[in-house]
This record gives sequence, C-alpha cells and structure tokens, in this order.
Amino acid sequence: MLRTGISRTLRPVSRISACTYSAAAIPAPNTQPDIHYNKLFINNEWHDAVNKKTFPTINPATGEVICQVAEGDKADVDKAVKAAKGAFRLGSPWRRMDASDRGMLLHRLADCIERDAAYLAVSGSWIRSMSYYAGWADKWEGKTIPIDGDYFCYTRHEPIGVCGQIIPWNFPLLMQAWKLGPALATGNTVVMKVAEQTPLTALYVASLIKEVGFPPGVVNIVPGMGPSAGAAIASHMDVDKVAFTGSTEVGQLIQQTSGASNLKKVTLELGGKSPNIILSDANMDEAVDQANMAIFFNQGQCCCAGSRTYVQESIYNEFVERSVERAKKRVVGDPFNLKTEHGPQVDDEQYQKILSYINSGKHEGAKLLCGGSAAADRGYFIQPTIFGDVQDNMKIAREEIFGPVMQILKFKSVEEVIERANDTKYGLAAAVFTTDINKAQYISNSLRAGTVWINCYNVFGVQAPFGGYKASGTGRELGEYGLENYTEVKTVTIKIPQKNS
Ligand code: NAP
Ligand code: MG
Repeated sequence: MLRTGISRTLRPVSRISACTYSAAAIPAPNTQPDIHYNKLFINNEWHDAVNKKTFPTINPATGEVICQVAEGDKADVDKAVKAAKGAFRLGSPWRRMDASDRGMLLHRLADCIERDAAYLAVSGSWIRSMSYYAGWADKWEGKTIPIDGDYFCYTRHEPIGVCGQIIPWNFPLLMQAWKLGPALATGNTVVMKVAEQTPLTALYVASLIKEVGFPPGVVNIVPGMGPSAGAAIASHMDVDKVAFTGSTEVGQLIQQTSGASNLKKVTLELGGKSPNIILSDANMDEAVDQANMAIFFNQGQCCCAGSRTYVQESIYNEFVERSVERAKKRVVGDPFNLKTEHGPQVDDEQYQKILSYINSGKHEGAKLLCGGSAAADRGYFIQPTIFGDVQDNMKIAREEIFGPVMQILKFKSVEEVIERANDTKYGLAAAVFTTDINKAQYISNSLRAGTVWINCYNVFGVQAPFGGYKASGTGRELGEYGLENYTEVKTVTIKIPQKNS
C-alpha cells in the first residue's frame, strides 16, 4: 500500500487522441474545472490579489479584451512563498512522499492535460515533457564514492527548496511544463509568475494540479507584472532558486537581484540571434523549407529562431528567390483556422517593436524582398518579411527582433562564416545545411552555441538539453541535465569502524 495513498484517492482519467480544434467548435473541457481566471492560485485555493487589482488579457487577433485577470504583486508573492515554504517544511506530506508517488502525481497531471488537450489546444510536447520527468522522479540517483581512508562516502540528490519560476508568453504551456516537470520530479515547491500576456492556460493547469492531488502549497501561480511580481520573486529571501525564460536584459536584472538578496541559484534561458548556415552543396529544397520554418515558426517569436541566414555565394541568388517565393505562400490569418500558418504577434508592444526593426532595415540599406508591413487592419499581424544583402553590422543582423523577419547574408568560405556566425553576444542555437558530413561536424564543433542542428531546425526532444552559451543563458533545461539545476548535492561520509580497533 502506498504511504501517501495517492493511487487510491485519484480517479482514473481517460486517454484521448492528439489535439485538433477549430474556431467553430472549441470543445468544452471534459470536467467542470474548479478554475477562476480572475484569481491567483495559492495553497490550492483561489485568492483575489491583496490589492484587488486586475488587468485585462487581450486577444491578439482582434485587440479585444478576453477577460480580467488578478494582478499579483509583492504582497501576493509573499503569500505564495509562505505557502511554498510551508509545503517544503520537514515532515510535510510533500517531503514525506515517496519519490515514486511524486512521479505518479506528475503522470496523473500529464493524463489530465491529455484529457483536456482539445480544450487547451495543447500539443503532445506538453504531455511528453511531464511524463518524461514523472519517470525521473525515482531514478535520480546519487553516487557512492571511493574516498581515501576507512570511510563510506555517498551523495544524495536533494531538492533545493522553494523555486521561483518566471516564464514568457511565446510558448506559455510548454514553458510551464519545462519548468514544472524537473522542479516537481525532484521534490521542490514552486511559485510561478506567468507572463502578463498569457496567464490563462497556466491557471487552467493550476486547477488540474489541485484535481490530481498535489498537496497545498506545492505549486502556486501568481499572474502579475514583471517589475512588481517578477522582481519580488527574484529578490525574495525565502526563494532558494529562480528559473527564468525571457529577454537577456531582464535575465541580467534577475541575476543581479538574486546575487544582491540571498544568492539564490539562478538558471536563465534568454535571447538569441541564431545563425543558420547554408552551404553550396546543401539540398536546396530542404534548406529553403527549413530556413523558412527556422525563422517564421510561431511568427518569429522563438528564442532560437534562425534569424541570420548565411548563404554561400554560388547558391545565393537561387536561395533568395526560392525563399521569397516560399514566404509569400505562408497563409496569414485567424489562428483558430487550421489552414493558417501565421497568426498575430503577441501584443501591440511587440508589433510596434518589430515594425520599427523593419524600418531600421530599410534605412540601413538592406534590400526588402517581401513583406515589410502590417498584414491586416486589426489585430497584430505582420507580413512574413525577408531582407537580402544584409550586412553583419546592421541592427537587424545584431539584435533579436522576435518577429517574422528573415535576414539573408552572403558568405564565401567556411572559415569566414564560422567567424561571422560567432560574432554575436548570443549563443543559443545554430544550424548547418550541407551534404558533406566532415564540413557539418567541423562547423558544428566550431560554433559557440548550446544547440546545433545539422540539416534540420527547431528539432526538440524533452530528452535532450537546451540552453545557451554567452548571453543566451546559464544552465540547461530538459533531459537529465535539466534535473541538475533543481538539485542540491549532499555528500555524506560515514566512518567505517575497523575490525581490530
Ligand atoms: P521579458 O520582459 O523578459 O519577460 C519574460 C518574463 O519576465 C515575463 O514574465 C515578465 O513579466 C518577467 N519580467 C519582466 N521584467 C521583470 C523584472 N524586472 N523582474 C522579474 N521578472 C520580470 O520579455 P517580454 O517583455 O515578454 O519580451 C521582450 C523581449 O524578450 C522579446 O522581444 C524577446 O526578445 C525576448 N523574449 C525572449 C523569450 C525567450 O524565449 N528567450 C521569450 C519572450 C521574450 P511581464 O509579463 O510583466 O513582462
Ligand atoms: Mg514584458
């Protein structure tokens, strides 16, 4: 019998097939969830913000308000941290829970998400991330170590404690899964601040956390603004670790604040300006298609977007022509229409910022080959845009645009392109397209980036680590490596009495 009785108290949930949805019929969730989108989720209960403030959440396809959401700030973060600290105290149900039962709870959460996948419009990746870390819960083992002398020495992998998690808006559900999975599998408790633009699905997941039976206080979700709620997490003396995904500027602030408060552990997944290198011997069809997806996927709102496309001289003209043809074919429109490839940007701020980058490209002398302006008269739609003849020193070649804007740059030799590709403050991802395995490996080994794709782009596996070199971040998420950032290693040494002593 399970000590915590988890298996007995949880009701089984049915499995359904992969998600599909349409505007005409967004299916209702399979159960009546206990969810209040205008409240904060603390200690498995729904709370108004202490200051009673709310903020609107906007539909980016129309600019209209969807609903009001509670706006947490420092006082609410204090409440949430207190709950998370309470759930982490020695002897609490969470601390006493067997690791295999923690895994079971995570499996149940994945099952509930799968049950409600159509309503949430969630992809299989969320479910796989959670199931993967559910499996790790009772397999994250320490070592026995042969130190000198008559001692038995071993390590224990222990949870760090209260983990603050601050996530962005570009993949709200997936970012939540990447953060919750390893934190909970290793026995931590969580206070999560979701991005102001995308709080709703995270709150829905909160209702499932309660439904599957996580003890109160293990997961707390506080929507709110970065400079208030986010900063309160980074500076909190009772938060033991902070994990952040977002811009490099805010990442720097978080690292400073963490250092100046209690030296909480910090992991950062930040921006990028990833090079995508197309050699003259590449398979042209594949390279054009993948380079298109590399930059335009999710309307360019992707930290690892292949935004600097380096193309070798001899194939430059053909590549440019075919890339423009391909970009013009992208179906821009209503995100609820299954035929749509390209929806709106997340909000007016990003929309304006991207348009100003497009203007800067025009002014600096890059050649606008397609797109270049708004794609609709309402909502935040921007045409898939391509600049050719881009030079390395142009603003559009150096800064993260986070929008559907492709920069194409010409190069002559392998050595030259390696140097130019590495000449950036970022180091998140990179790609090489070539049919020569030796060149592929040489270039891949020479690039200073956390992920290198060869003849593919945006391929993620929950089993494989992801994270940045240089200003693209600290630490790795996903895979076994992802567990290290949620674990303290304790060394225990026992004296072994000798026979004759
Ligand atoms: P951001 O400001 O870095 O936001 C990421 C998260 O950090 C959000 O939850 C945000 O809260 C919070 N935050 C903001 N200021 C904070 C502070 N002082 N202390 C603690 N937390 C704080 O990113 P953004 O404003 O959404 O987007 C701006 C740029 O960031 C984008 O153009 C893009 O370049 C980059 N970005 C990168 C990624 C990525 O995946 N690496 C994702 C999103 C954005 P709010 O919700 O209030 O902003
Ligand atoms: Mg922001």
